[in-house]
Amino acid sequence: MKRNTFIKTVALTGIGLGVLPNLSFSMLQNKFTLPQLIGKGNPDIVGNTYTSKMHKEAKKEFLKMQMEARKDGIEIDVISAYRSFNRQKQIFEKKYKKYTSQGLTPLDAIYKIIEYSTIPGTSRHHWGTDIDIVSLLPSPLENPLQAKHFHGNGKFCKLKEWMDANSEKLGFYLVYTDNPKRKGFKYEPWHYSYAPVSIPMLQEYKQLDLKEIFTKEKVLGSEFFTENFIEQYRNENILDINPKLL
Ligand SMILES: [Zn+2]
Repeated sequence: MKRNTFIKTVALTGIGLGVLPNLSFSMLQNKFTLPQLIGKGNPDIVGNTYTSKMHKEAKKEFLKMQMEARKDGIEIDVISAYRSFNRQKQIFEKKYKKYTSQGLTPLDAIYKIIEYSTIPGTSRHHWGTDIDIVSLLPSPLENPLQAKHFHGNGKFCKLKEWMDANSEKLGFYLVYTDNPKRKGFKYEPWHYSYAPVSIPMLQEYKQLDLKEIFTKEKVLGSEFFTENFIEQYRNENILDINPKLL
């Protein structure tokens, strides 16, 4: 039975929540709209710039975390926060054109893009709950989002150490961990998610029909997304993440 039909049935038959002990209220009601889940409009996003736009709750808690870190002499700078569907589409399609013009087949180009970048409509940055962080901007580093900067003698080691010790108790979790068994996106020591909002969003996101979204939005290259590809992308890139965020 579809969820909406179920809700109607519950309403029509007058079954109260009290006789459904195994179903919490949140399971009976979708909290997020499709546009919210795929970056096409979200009234909960606050902020004006690329690095300050976040889900209002995530932002409030991020600012608290930033203050806490500052007390310990650590600066947390956001390099990327909320990203719209259209922005992700630009990023994806620019890379797609570049790689295919270099001679890669469409499918090879797509696989290369999804080492680090998402297909529009599937980015956790669409939710406003996820941020990419570095330390001490402006950074002299040309490409600061590389794992080597967060380890060894890297420029952001102190930041990473502080996050390892403190971020989870403040609600922020690494998404793409360095677990060697993990598939999907590569290790991203800079990408954190505000779990109290992103966990319920992922639960609802899982119910979406991705193929329908890609087809409707006419993403460049989407004609090469086979059923198998989409299934693999869903299982590995969307769901093979830090298990604490599932
Ligand atoms: Zn990110």
